[in-house]
Amino acid sequence: MAEEDGYRDRLRRFATIWSRAVFPVTSTPLTRPEFEERLLPLARRLSEALRARVFDAEEGRAVGAALVDAHCTDPEALSRTLDCVDAYLVLYCGGDVAPQEDLRARSARLQHAMAAGYARALRERTLSEQEAIAQAALQAQGVVAQALHASEARFRAVFEGAAIGIGIADLEGNILQVNGALVRMFGGSEQGVRGRRVMDWAHPEDAPQVWRLYEELVRGERDHYHVEKPFYRPDGTVLWTNLTVSLLRDADGNPQYQLALMEDTTERRLLNLRLRYEATHDALTGLPNRTLFFERLEKALNAGEGQAFGLCYLDLDGFKTINDSLGHAAGDRLLVEVADRLQACATAPGEMVARLGGDEFVALTTGPRARSEVDELAARIMNALGTPVRIDGRELTVRGSIGIVEGPASGERSAAEVLRSADITMYRAKSAGGNRFEVADPEADARAITRHGLTTALPTALENGEFFIEYQPLVHLGDGSVRGAEALVRWLHPQHGVLGPDRFIPLAEHTGLIVPLGRWVLEQSVRQAKEWRERNGGNGAGRAADPLRINVNLSPCQLTHPGLVQDTVEILERAGVAPDALCLEVTESALIGADDDLLKPLRRLAEMGVDIALDDFGTGYSNLANLRRLPVSVLKLDRSFTQGMQQFPADPVDLKIVEGIVSLAHSLKLTVTVEGVETGAQAEQLRLLGCDTAQGWYYARPGPPERLHELTLVDATG
Ligand code: C2E
Ligand code: MG
Ligand code: MG
Repeated sequence: MAEEDGYRDRLRRFATIWSRAVFPVTSTPLTRPEFEERLLPLARRLSEALRARVFDAEEGRAVGAALVDAHCTDPEALSRTLDCVDAYLVLYCGGDVAPQEDLRARSARLQHAMAAGYARALRERTLSEQEAIAQAALQAQGVVAQALHASEARFRAVFEGAAIGIGIADLEGNILQVNGALVRMFGGSEQGVRGRRVMDWAHPEDAPQVWRLYEELVRGERDHYHVEKPFYRPDGTVLWTNLTVSLLRDADGNPQYQLALMEDTTERRLLNLRLRYEATHDALTGLPNRTLFFERLEKALNAGEGQAFGLCYLDLDGFKTINDSLGHAAGDRLLVEVADRLQACATAPGEMVARLGGDEFVALTTGPRARSEVDELAARIMNALGTPVRIDGRELTVRGSIGIVEGPASGERSAAEVLRSADITMYRAKSAGGNRFEVADPEADARAITRHGLTTALPTALENGEFFIEYQPLVHLGDGSVRGAEALVRWLHPQHGVLGPDRFIPLAEHTGLIVPLGRWVLEQSVRQAKEWRERNGGNGAGRAADPLRINVNLSPCQLTHPGLVQDTVEILERAGVAPDALCLEVTESALIGADDDLLKPLRRLAEMGVDIALDDFGTGYSNLANLRRLPVSVLKLDRSFTQGMQQFPADPVDLKIVEGIVSLAHSLKLTVTVEGVETGAQAEQLRLLGCDTAQGWYYARPGPPERLHELTLVDATG
């Protein structure tokens, strides 16, 4: 019950915010609270669509259309509505019915559907209004004719009271009479309109047939015509109209006057331009988006003889970490800054920059010398990214990887092919360590493992049993005994051989496959732990060994998946393994800024006895004081700290940092594990600094499960 009340309150708050944003730009006779009541059912429809078990974006269309019905036809009303839905819908109405990322994706699709529904309703309304005007024109024609013949007074009333602009001119084009509505359309001054001649109103954007139709009408060869026509107002601004001109004849049927009826369509036209702009530009950075970029690239590729193109495909290195650890708002600001810098790099004619989505940008150069210019463009971009970006008082270093494709504009390659090649090349730059650019090479393209190819193969890979797990021992620094192992998943790809997790985990996260894959890894690893524990129960050397434990990595998406706690409990129970045999590793960046909702499942697991480790500690930008809030019992120091201890003696500053972290961790009753120990010297140094356990090639590379058993036996006997 309380939950339902809470939902209702949040829905109401969303409707309030929405109505406050849109009311000022709406021409409605309602008061603001009445207007809010009008929006409330629309808010409920959006919310229900967002939370529905089966998602249907059609609701968004209906809501968009309903906005037009509610007179929200000002160009600003749609844009404010979309901003408001984007910022608040998931926040107030999402709850925990689905992972946040899914909800955000749904919200984005709803917004698209709303914009589409809105545009369509507006178009339909315009059409029906035009029809009404045409009707009015015919009627007015009849009325005016009668009035001219009979009652001047009645004609006056119709003429002055009409909501559309009406003007009468003689057949030479001298304007004789105009009504108040028409004067208002032209800015309110009668002098600006009356006494002028129709021909003065030519406009450079007049459709070609306009003046031909006019001539036919005044010659008496046609009775009316209908066009869309711009006019200059006396102040120089432009008025767009739907214009209907009719010929008035005298009682004998001779042409006598011309009657113009006009409707002001300026705002609607602006809205249409704006909608086109929004459909082709990225809302965050204002850069052209994928759609517009494709249009331009297509054109550039077919420019013909003597012309060429050069394309830079840029992906930021490590953007996800920044986004995860500093929050989306900071990530957004970084993207805006990057967009500004890129734009400053491509200002020459024939150059353009666009955002394809996420942290992916493209820069295009065209013209006869594009093939040689593209290298300079890439160098300018790398240089522009070189200066750190200041956000929230932090200096962030931005790096990027660029894939370059260039060639003649002879139309032999499609835009999609060129972009694919650029993407593959960018990935090659990234695999080579990032922060560099590479030039496309058709042979490498053919061999390349594409993200797209891997993504589509992922689901069947799980069904076909192409994944396997390697285990890397965790060793106690004090006595050198093996305490457990970390499970690291690999993919034995039928064509590409063994692929490491860095190749496919991000793709599995993106597609949601990470949830079943993660569950499979957990199942396998827990079963493996059970086997070790049985074999290792009494290790035969007389001393009671600590039972072996298993560490399993969790992705951020798994954290927000509602089944996490229950799945884990079931897996442990089915295998008959105690919760304290399991340690779940969560990266530091996934927990920074986490709210209580996100921490709840981890807290429940920790209460049951499952250990939670903070993985890759020291790579995010977390606040150490925050650690005590988290249900964490182990810190895994990132490999970068260990790398700083390559030589003996190691860098004293590094040592001080590690010493500080260890003592802080111990005072919070956290155990410290170090990763990436490759030499005995490092191991010794880390032991002296007080670290508890270690993992790395010095002890063992990740390997098959039997290897661990050999290690523990060697240790026990040796
Ligand atoms: P991680 O959890 O930080 O795992 C440690 C990584 O360091 C592993 O890379 C391991 O092979 C590597 N490593 C271990 N000792 C050394 C050493 O002495 N020197 C060096 N240079 N490297 C060492 P791997 O296997 O490529 O895994 C990469 C990351 O993939 C993991 O980082 C983890 O975040 C993720 N991952 C692996 N398995 C899974 C999984 O089942 N689920 C999820 N969600 N993520 C996984
Ligand atoms: Mg790990
Ligand atoms: Mg790690």
